[in-house]
Amino acid sequence: MKLNVSGLQKMPGATERFEFVLEHIDDEDDIKFNKPVLVDGKISNTGLFLELSAHISTSVLAFCCKCLDEVIIPIELDFTEQYFHESEKVQPESEGGSEATVLEYNDDLIDLEQAVRDNIVISLPMRILCTPKCPGLCPHCGRSLKEGPCQCNTKDIDPRLAVLAQLKKE
Ligand SMILES: [Zn+2]
Ligand SMILES: [Zn+2]
Repeated sequence: MKLNVSGLQKMPGATERFEFVLEHIDDEDDIKFNKPVLVDGKISNTGLFLELSAHISTSVLAFCCKCLDEVIIPIELDFTEQYFHESEKVQPESEGGSEATVLEYNDDLIDLEQAVRDNIVISLPMRILCTPKCPGLCPHCGRSLKEGPCQCNTKDIDPRLAVLAQLKKE
């Protein structure tokens, strides 16, 4: 999905609204969507750059990092990006000062899909868990301990303590 800004970029102060649905988004970052991605927002010509602000609504299908169960992560997020035309190379004001990314565009087209995908990736948690205290899988039999204890009857004993327990028995 690319937004044509050929008209907008000639009109400082003007704003255009947009709304679209991405039925399919390239999942090169291994994101699986289980809903179409709804995007709506506006893009304004500030006179210096084009400012995009948009809302994303979708949900992502991921896997719990401990028990590997499917986890649906609803996504509702707002983001803002600033786009400078390729011909106006702008130096970031100060090193490490502003967090805002400076994006460039060319050929009068802004790649919204890229912006949408990047913002979704940033919003996802580093560790995805089905519940905050997911007990994960039994390291011995592989059973998901969320569904109840397994028959292994091993409390998570530190191997060093296990040696002590063995000594006590003897
Ligand atoms: Zn889990
Ligand atoms: Zn087990």
